[in-house]
Amino acid sequence: MTSEKGLGFFETSFPAHPDLQRIILFSGHFCAGHVIGLRAAEEFLERFDLSRATEDEIVAIVENHSCVADAIQVVTGCTFGKGNLIFHDHGKHIYTFVEHDSGRALRFCLRMNIERAPGTNPSDPERMAWTAECPVHELFEIEELTVALPPPLPRPIMQPCPCCGEWTTNQLAVPVDGRQLCYPCAAKAGAVPPSVIPPWKMF
Ligand SMILES: [Zn+2]
Ligand SMILES: [Zn+2]
Repeated sequence: MTSEKGLGFFETSFPAHPDLQRIILFSGHFCAGHVIGLRAAEEFLERFDLSRATEDEIVAIVENHSCVADAIQVVTGCTFGKGNLIFHDHGKHIYTFVEHDSGRALRFCLRMNIERAPGTNPSDPERMAWTAECPVHELFEIEELTVALPPPLPRPIMQPCPCCGEWTTNQLAVPVDGRQLCYPCAAKAGAVPPSVIPPWKMF
């Protein structure tokens, strides 16, 4: 399989491609969003000769919440739980993959020619096939760059919020009038913006 030729998975690999099976197990379904994430993640791993991260050898930065991010977690091993998946809620189809130790990175910007893909629903087989077969450079604008990752923080210490009594980490407590409040209590006090649930869905 080469990225330039596309995945060819409807002809040859589906459903044998191990990542497709892992994505379905993880996400519960398979759609064009997953194909986008799979294409970007595989291109990064192949170009930098890396394999799926077991710890934090790779960091992925996603700028939307969608099925693309689910595929990226499965293929790269950059997961929400391990902390090497960074989420910025920008509503943009931007996916950046960083080799942790060197900072070498690839930034993928989905080209909006995806709008010309056949079908209207991300689960349409023609739409998934088009996304899988499109040459990777026609699917994404790909930029090589260096990303300076911050040094790891010391291990967090849990402490009780003096307002609600629930425990939070010292790193995320918010100082309000000399007290260390948990984020929701600090938001109720007007010290920080409230947490919001993003109302949109890309895929
Ligand atoms: Zn989906
Ligand atoms: Zn609280």
